[in-house]
Amino acid sequence: MNQVRNAECGVRNRDARVARRASLHCNSAFRIPYSAPWWLALLTFVATAEPMRAQQWPVHSMDRPRPHVVDPGPERSPLPPPSDAIVLFDGKNLAEWQSEDGTPAKWVVRDGYVEVKPLAGAIETKRAFGDVQLHLEWAAPVPATGEGQDRGNSGVFLMTHYEVQVLDSYHSDTYADGQAAAVYGQTPPLANACRPPGQWQTYDIIFHRPRFTADGAVRDSARVTVLHNGVLVQDNTTITGWTVHGQRAHYATHPDRLPLLLQDHGHPVRYRDIWIRELKEHE
Ligand code: MG
Repeated sequence: MNQVRNAECGVRNRDARVARRASLHCNSAFRIPYSAPWWLALLTFVATAEPMRAQQWPVHSMDRPRPHVVDPGPERSPLPPPSDAIVLFDGKNLAEWQSEDGTPAKWVVRDGYVEVKPLAGAIETKRAFGDVQLHLEWAAPVPATGEGQDRGNSGVFLMTHYEVQVLDSYHSDTYADGQAAAVYGQTPPLANACRPPGQWQTYDIIFHRPRFTADGAVRDSARVTVLHNGVLVQDNTTITGWTVHGQRAHYATHPDRLPLLLQDHGHPVRYRDIWIRELKEHE
């Protein structure tokens, strides 16, 4: 267990004794005989620095600063996928998808895109994935209706549990950790790179799944990098647990591979050009 790297180290308790125990797990290689105050300062820093970045704001805080707005340029036509990509949706059918209960996917396919059928439920891939590179395109409904979370809401759930938010955040405000390209309820995007509703927007996502120890502890947290319309908006962001609404995220163990899921949040968001590449460990 001394070699375990647990992203939760020191998250919940800054008491020096607990911090020291946590730090021994995180930094067991240190054997430099500095003074006690030096150690205390180091351990306190180790115990608090990383968690503070992710947790200094309450979940869904409206006081949390919004990221700056970036104009990503005009929408573009899709490019052919790489040769080793698994094409999950090519505009023709939902053969790679199903409803969460295993019945056929009920969303509407037309004119090269698939549209959320409100209240039909999420769709998920029949295949399961772990570490991936994912490309997809989405468009928020026009005319735009509703405000905040009630405006073009859907979501890309990696491994069924980790949501990169899909939302019409073009000239539309909501809490920072819930706007487009946020790791929902955790980490806002680095920029708001939304195009207007109705225009096609790209997500390019690199996701590394969490690793759990045999006894169910988190050995490595999941991490995600996201480019929104070509703009870097999540930069190897640590995911702190299953994305949930209105509460702190926590991990629960799950298999090494799980389906990719697209959310039905009651809005007719459209998707197209969905492909995925499975990432392998370095050989
Ligand atoms: Mg959503």
